[in-house]
Amino acid sequence: MAYCRNCGAPIADQAVICPRCGVAQSGSGGSLTDNGSLGWGVLSFFLPVVGLILFLVWREEKPKSARVSGIGALIGTGVSVLLSIGAMVLYVVAFAAAVSVAM
Ligand SMILES: [Zn+2]
Repeated sequence: MAYCRNCGAPIADQAVICPRCGVAQSGSGGSLTDNGSLGWGVLSFFLPVVGLILFLVWREEKPKSARVSGIGALIGTGVSVLLSIGAMVLYVVAFAAAVSVAM
């Protein structure tokens, strides 16, 4: 149980606004929860651009979440680059095979 930093009324730990006086609560349990959730890493893995933006935006206020997003974006970028290289190699090999069969 936390207490309102304005009026001292008991409020829920995750409360963003005090239900009694309406003052926004900051600090431990505010809207800026920096839990470094793995979900951001997964999101960044599939959408590296989003991960990069989150990383830049959160660098100051949410270092943990920013780190997870940044790592996810890096891995996502690396995997997509590897996949493109793999696809290109496959394409070249298939093309060379087709040409050699044709000739
Ligand atoms: Zn209050």
